[in-house]
Amino acid sequence: MRWSQTFIPTHKEDPADAEIISHKLMVRAGLMHKLSSGVYTYLPLGLRTIKKVEQIVRQEMNAAGAVELLMPIMQPSELWRETGRWDVYGKELMKVKDRQNRDFALGPTHEEVITDLIRGQIRSYKRLPLILYQIQTKFRDEIRPRFGVMRAREFVMKDAYSFHENEASLDETYQRMYQAYTRIFQRCGLSTAPVMADSGAIGGDVTHEFMVLADTGEGEILSCECGYAATAEGAQSQLAPYKVEEKIKSMEKVETPEAHTVEQVTQFLNIDARRLVKTIFYRCDEQIIAILIRGDREVNEAKVHRILGCSTLEMATAEEILQVSGAPVGFSGPVGLKGMQMIADLSLKGLANIVVGANEDQCHMINVNFPRDFTVKRFEDLHLAQAGDLCPSCGKILTSRRGIEVGQIFKLGAKYSKSLKAKFLDQNGKESPFIMGCYGIGITRTVAAAIEQYHDQDGIIWPMTIAPYQVLILPLNVSDEMTMAAADGFYKQLVDAGLEVLLDDRDERAGFKFKDADLIGIPLRLTVGERSLRQGKVEVKLRRQNQVIKVDRDKAVSMIREMISEERLASEKS
Ligand code: ATP
Ligand code: MG
Repeated sequence: MRWSQTFIPTHKEDPADAEIISHKLMVRAGLMHKLSSGVYTYLPLGLRTIKKVEQIVRQEMNAAGAVELLMPIMQPSELWRETGRWDVYGKELMKVKDRQNRDFALGPTHEEVITDLIRGQIRSYKRLPLILYQIQTKFRDEIRPRFGVMRAREFVMKDAYSFHENEASLDETYQRMYQAYTRIFQRCGLSTAPVMADSGAIGGDVTHEFMVLADTGEGEILSCECGYAATAEGAQSQLAPYKVEEKIKSMEKVETPEAHTVEQVTQFLNIDARRLVKTIFYRCDEQIIAILIRGDREVNEAKVHRILGCSTLEMATAEEILQVSGAPVGFSGPVGLKGMQMIADLSLKGLANIVVGANEDQCHMINVNFPRDFTVKRFEDLHLAQAGDLCPSCGKILTSRRGIEVGQIFKLGAKYSKSLKAKFLDQNGKESPFIMGCYGIGITRTVAAAIEQYHDQDGIIWPMTIAPYQVLILPLNVSDEMTMAAADGFYKQLVDAGLEVLLDDRDERAGFKFKDADLIGIPLRLTVGERSLRQGKVEVKLRRQNQVIKVDRDKAVSMIREMISEERLASEKS
């Protein structure tokens, strides 16, 4: 492709709304153009890389036994009502109406549509397992679209869904997908870490996220040298116990005027936050429940959600709190709280003489002890794990890193097949709901993550496998006939050799073209100039290295071919 023929609008300045390097470079290198918040046009150069990532994903999905299809973006609300997600999914679900006033969602994901497809078509276990996938534009009305295509409102995703007769078959496919994902990211040149995650609102129990390690990542990973790694939301952790050797004292009510936050109460009573126990009320579907947690820790709502198996979970309102506890926010406690499900976080274990709200305005109880003063029937791991906690598998200290989630795989179980009544006849002729898995990769986010991982102060450094072009030919002076004849000759030879080549035929200063070359980051640059040509030479340079290599012009093509295969291998191995 000739630069003058295509459309690569490069920019000197960073876009004003860009906070991270991949966003800045994707706009400056002419890969994409913003239309509206979180909505981008993929320009020719960007689209080429997107297609490359898609192709790698396709090859690996096909190799793993998945089959491609394409489902509609418009999804009737009736299906979403059947699974209950029309209301539960929240404001991220983009809703539109047709001319008959019927509601539709613009697909953020396709569990409903695929399960609806299968329930009408597959009746026997003999057709299972079945794995289907698509690569398609998704819509999510993100509360804070940012970082360019990293968190967009319209983006490209690969989503796969698998249907099984039993858990064992799902386990086998899950493993295969796990391996396919590992290979996909490796082939894109990315180093990713698979980490255990929380299944959140999508349901199911086992799930892994594939993370690209990057300081700008929105996800926190807690990991241990023993190999344990999980997202902060998905992590379990043991807490170092807070135990003070002292006698059990008598419970007492004390006035704590105006002190209702942890900070205020601990300051007022001059106690360690670990001695204070917070009582937090949630509305779980229609029921109000109480969570008890040590004052220095936060509740991990995803864990509560999963443990209770409810479809909606929200903090109780101030009125609800007043109603169930008799006290305003900040003064609730477990003593005397009747007829309510109460679950304590593991952080409460071993505590003595604690402080809790007295269920009375401006009052707390001190020296509270359980089971003497209140009973807890259920202890669970409900706290948000953090660095410094102890690893749940070996007890060593967990450390924190940041990462970008590029893919996620889930074991869904029968969540969607049950609500959508998707059943098949098993080997004994009995009707049973399909066991399902789902597997997503953010294609456009993967492109941005690659740039986060591969760039320098001058621009992008594409891994060879996903570069928009493999070679950039840069003639120094396009008005010089000899230079252009040589450049055209190389172009033809390299294209004939099956390579993807961009020829910068713009009539611009060499310095300007070198800057753009660095910015768009094509892995191999072939510089053609009058002076070198007179000595029978051209210059070859790898974008990721500083060194320029002078080569005989008749050896350039074979050398470039060799370098490209080496680079391909290198990026796949990194
Ligand atoms: P996140 O936690 O980042 O919001 P998610 O867990 O909601 O993502 P999934 O439902 O697992 O995302 O979607 C599969 C993949 O789609 C993600 O791993 C990610 O790569 C990509 N993705 C999700 N949301 C966005 C978005 N708003 N913009 C770009 N890519 C996205
Ligand atoms: Mg996810």
